Amino acid sequence: AKRAGRGVYRFYTESLTTAAQSRLALDTRLRRALENKEFVLWYQPLYRLADRCLIGLEALVRLNQPGLPPIGPAEFIPLLEETGQITTLGAWVTQEACRQGRAWLDEGLDFGRIAINLSPQEIRRGQTDERVREALERSGLPAERLELELTESGLMEQGERAEAFLHRLRALGVRLAIDDFGTGYSSLAYLKRFPVSKLKIDRSFVRDLPADANDAQLVQTMVSMGRNLGISVLAEGVETEAQFDYLRSLGCDAAQGYFFSPPRPADEARHWLRPLAAA
Ligand code: C2E
Ligand code: CA
Ligand code: CA
Ligand code: CA
Repeated sequence: AKRAGRGVYRFYTESLTTAAQSRLALDTRLRRALENKEFVLWYQPLYRLADRCLIGLEALVRLNQPGLPPIGPAEFIPLLEETGQITTLGAWVTQEACRQGRAWLDEGLDFGRIAINLSPQEIRRGQTDERVREALERSGLPAERLELELTESGLMEQGERAEAFLHRLRALGVRLAIDDFGTGYSSLAYLKRFPVSKLKIDRSFVRDLPADANDAQLVQTMVSMGRNLGISVLAEGVETEAQFDYLRSLGCDAAQGYFFSPPRPADEARHWLRPLAAA
């Protein structure tokens, strides 16, 4: 029993060490990538369901360094949040999305809106709204072309502070969307007070549509909730034509997902854009 116990103990310390080492390696890699501005934004199209018209692009951060395995945000965002570096990444994402949007407009290309993701930490820290204002000013991107996505759980965590924060952002003229809607137990009372223009239904509710009767009922409820509040509703993670048809029949406003396209680099996203209508 003693030997087994020691064996277990040794196994435990070894795996801890391995975890700590790979965490440290990732942390080092991320710090360098931030310093050297090696992150890139990829874009996924957002479509209106009624006419399949492009209404926007969601910017999603990627780290594809030569000679190293690419890593996705699900792997590195949590670590950046823990170490507080998420605000450094967030500042870069905001500037880069605004710069790209302005560049497309200057080429006469219309993308609708560019949406970026904000971490819950960026609600807590003071300078986020100031940073957004600066990025708009510096780039010359019209504020109504920028949409900020905040997760429902992140907003709920921050309570009253979230409400004040959203009003400061809204005052800049940007649009606000609630991301991963349906997973964060928000109350209707809160939703009514938040100055948001879009709910993004989390893809866990979309995955088993139209077959799963429970999910179908939930999605119907979210769509009518949006309609009653005057907030547009977008379904995330649409992968099949059956999901697309079903959501359109429910009166869901918009969708995004692999059915249309996965996220792509900016030079490929460019082909989805239409000529700007003459002002
Ligand atoms: P999210 O904001 O919910 O973004 C949607 C995620 O779903 C993206 O994963 C996208 O590639 C993926 N997706 C889109 N359509 C489909 C589909 O049809 N099926 C499936 N299975 N997946 C689909 P990605 O790019 O790996 O991003 C993961 C999460 O990382 C994002 O979830 C967001 O929370 C976070 N993230 C990404 N970029 C940023 C950023 O610039 N800043 C912050 N703070 N978070 C970011
Ligand atoms: Ca999002
Ligand atoms: Ca989402
Ligand atoms: Ca389900």
